[in-house]
Amino acid sequence: MESVLTTRGLSKTYGSCHALRNLSMEVPKGAIYGLVGRNGAGKTTLIRLLCGLQTPTAGSYTLYGVDHTDKAIHTVRQRMGAVVESPAIYQDLSAINNLKMQAQVLGLPSQEDLPHLLGLVGLEDTGKKKVRHFSLGMRQRLGIAMALVGSPDFLVLDEPVNGLDPQGIVEMRELLLRLNREKQITILLSSHILDELARLATHYGFMDRGRMVQQITASQVEAACRKCTHVEVSDVAILARVLDGMGLDYTILSSHSADIYAHPHVTELVQALADAGCQVSSMHQHDESLESYYMSLVGGDARG
Ligand code: ATP
Repeated sequence: MESVLTTRGLSKTYGSCHALRNLSMEVPKGAIYGLVGRNGAGKTTLIRLLCGLQTPTAGSYTLYGVDHTDKAIHTVRQRMGAVVESPAIYQDLSAINNLKMQAQVLGLPSQEDLPHLLGLVGLEDTGKKKVRHFSLGMRQRLGIAMALVGSPDFLVLDEPVNGLDPQGIVEMRELLLRLNREKQITILLSSHILDELARLATHYGFMDRGRMVQQITASQVEAACRKCTHVEVSDVAILARVLDGMGLDYTILSSHSADIYAHPHVTELVQALADAGCQVSSMHQHDESLESYYMSLVGGDARG
């Protein structure tokens, strides 16, 4: 399959900090590629390198087959739109005027498509309203519209749902799926919210401490996810001791929750926990979550 982005042995150091270590990955054309990693894993560093905002210390990457050291990379990068950290949006301009500014910056001759672009991100009714009066979700969607000026077919988004309320998250999800399915835009995005990423991504890259630990498709993750019992308890250390004593396999998710990979004898487990001084607040069966899958890969607590 044709790939939009390939990295080979990419490394980036800041003084003694190894932000990226020998990272190789491939984003296939048409994918929604989710970068998964806890705080400091190197996701933003990777995205900044790909956008040309920083240069790698070692290794290389190609965009549409063009090496990053090739002069043609600047032309190829026009096929890529990105929202990294806070997008450059003028607060005192309306959405449409922000898009017009962006079109001018890119030197685009025509601005005919801009109203259509606003419609695409659901901001067609904002009229003359200044961006400073927009909700966070509206601003995030405007950031994406700005990145889409120039009609890129590869969109790179650093934490697009960060800080959004549930409604904003749903709107962002629908927008990204529409861009991918209807406009055939390949998307690379990072997110901490793994439940949300699981509703979108076709491919994952699991990162840990600057390394790519595993690249896998969504269907492979689905097949690999085991049936498990999710428990919420007052003390996860006691839970771990009791489960070890019962010989059950598990992953600790937080100081109050864990996934157990078996169907434990519920009465026996609750009784053993109560005897050890640990209360159970809930227990239900489900498929292993993306979060739990990631943690079984890298160990420890996935929340940064
Ligand atoms: P987060 O989810 O918190 O944004 P991340 O996966 O995006 O994390 P990065 O921001 O890429 O991680 O950071 C990777 C490592 O590189 C961290 O240890 C960070 O402190 C370090 N780092 C990033 N940028 C710089 C910089 N400009 N100078 C020094 N260290 C940096």
